[in-house]
Amino acid sequence: MKKSQYFKKLNNEKIQCQLCPHNCIINKGKNGICRVRKNISSELYSMNYGKVCSLHFDPIEKKPLYHFYPGRTIFSVGSVGCNLRCKFCQNWEISQTSVEDYPYLTDYSPEDIVKLATDESGNIGIAYTYNEPTVWYEFMLEIARLAKSKNLKNVMVTNAYINPEPLEELMPFIDAFSVDLKAFSENFYKEIVSAQLEPVKNTLKSINKKNKHLEITNLIIPGLNDDEKVFKKMINWIKDELGVNTVLHLSRYYPTYKMTIESTSVSKLIKLFKIAKEHLNFVYLGNVRTQEGQNTYCYKCGKLVINRFGYTTDLSGIDDDGKCLHCGNKIL
Ligand code: SF4
Repeated sequence: MKKSQYFKKLNNEKIQCQLCPHNCIINKGKNGICRVRKNISSELYSMNYGKVCSLHFDPIEKKPLYHFYPGRTIFSVGSVGCNLRCKFCQNWEISQTSVEDYPYLTDYSPEDIVKLATDESGNIGIAYTYNEPTVWYEFMLEIARLAKSKNLKNVMVTNAYINPEPLEELMPFIDAFSVDLKAFSENFYKEIVSAQLEPVKNTLKSINKKNKHLEITNLIIPGLNDDEKVFKKMINWIKDELGVNTVLHLSRYYPTYKMTIESTSVSKLIKLFKIAKEHLNFVYLGNVRTQEGQNTYCYKCGKLVINRFGYTTDLSGIDDDGKCLHCGNKIL
């Protein structure tokens, strides 16, 4: 464990964590909502510091990132804990638990992680993923700093539920963000994931303002976030606030964890894909095998530039600078 960077002491041995917008007030001996930040003797500790539950070399497309070093491999690391309570979480066994309750954690130092990443030829960097990396903040930041000094790329796969100050400190070290935008309604955020939408929108705007690579994933759940009016509002917000070239992945939901609603129909997914494509240049479909929504086409000349099949990526339509080989338009 390690002392947390963002908290303040309150009366009666309570403390307030200031890492994410929950701003939990935590009594002595208790954890915050994420289950991995604990008040020990009126100091806040990151209990999952250095505790690793998953290490894999993954295709970058799995994050999902389609416009950041396509076809390459990234060393992916994760721990336990999350500051959200998504009823549809696919990784709930690791996200909705604590260090004490999860017996399969292994200790690593930031140096160990960076060494594993640099030892693998062809690996572009490190992705903080599987559970929410915000609640692993101190460990992630230390790895990211070290990784940057070794010319590795850092990728954060996140729900974007982080306060502005810790985000600002982290920003110089993160090269690309894959953000889950769960829905575009405060009610959904409150009822289904136990959080708020507004801070997520602010994080997205901050990432964009710093010119970091950003791709957004929106999991479509029937009856909960597939209303076309609200969906159009979300697409227009992305276009107006983040830009027409923001990459959007629409992902198919399957029942899991506490959610029993039937899977998203492919026809609904394609309908929303077409709506999004009217306003954004790069929209993809995930968790589904379809003709549409897999490949990258140049938005100027319309020609195929990246052909994807599963995690196999054929880059024969694009040059090393990310330009379309047919018309020279900069794509990546
Ligand atoms: S990081 Fe954890 S303890 Fe801190 S405010 Fe968020 S949920 Fe609460």
